[in-house]
Order: sequence, then C-alpha cells, then structure tokens
Amino acid sequence: MIKDIDELTEEQIEICLNSGTERPFTGKFLNEDRVGTYRCVRCHNALFRSDTKFDAGCGWPSFYEAISETSLRYLDDYSLGRHRTEIRCGNCDAHMGHVFPDGPQPTGLRFCLNSIALNFKWDETGEEIDG
Ligand SMILES: [Zn+2]
Repeated sequence: MIKDIDELTEEQIEICLNSGTERPFTGKFLNEDRVGTYRCVRCHNALFRSDTKFDAGCGWPSFYEAISETSLRYLDDYSLGRHRTEIRCGNCDAHMGHVFPDGPQPTGLRFCLNSIALNFKWDETGEEIDG
C-alpha cells in the first residue's frame, strides 16, 4: 500500500515528494540502535537492516548497504552545483536521501537518509515507528 498524499504529514511531503532534507542532528533515527528493519515511510518497502547502520558523524542516519539491489532507485542530482546521487524508494519513488562513495567497507558507500522518510520496525516486538 502506498499512502496517498493526504495521508502524509507536512514534513513527509516536504522530504518524500519535494526532495527536501531534514536539519542535521534532528532526525528520530540518528541514534536509534535497536535491531530491526528500516522501511519507506510511504509504502513500507524494506530498505535497510539495522546491522548496516553506522555513525557517520554527518547528522543523518547512515547505512553502508541497502537490503537489495532493487530496494532503491538511483538518480543523478546536480541541484547544489555538484554531482550527487539521489536515492529514492524503489517501489513508490519517495525521496530518501543521497548515497556517497565515502562509506566504510565492505561497500565503501554511505547511504545518507532522512529519518522522516523512514519507518522503523523493531524485530523484538514488531513495533513500527515513523521517523
Ligand atoms: Zn516507498
């Protein structure tokens, strides 16, 4: 199920549909360290497992590997006058963040996410939390 625009909060619309960026060090999942799955907040497509999350020091929740090759879409983004790779949900096309080539091994990638674009499902209880 992909949520309709009227089921999204103003913040979710700004991030997911208008490719906005939440302010650094403000996101709900920045320091989240429970074991579980991070999913698209709009359609619950599984994107990242908690064991690939790391502290990049950049102020946004960061991961070094996506759950699968098709869980995300990758687009060239020149909006800040330089090239970045935008990441979107591979299912509903919601904007998630960007991926940079300066992450840790084994991938060398840093997937930099907006908490607001994510939903976290905690393994232990099945509790689901929107970012
Ligand atoms: Zn989605």
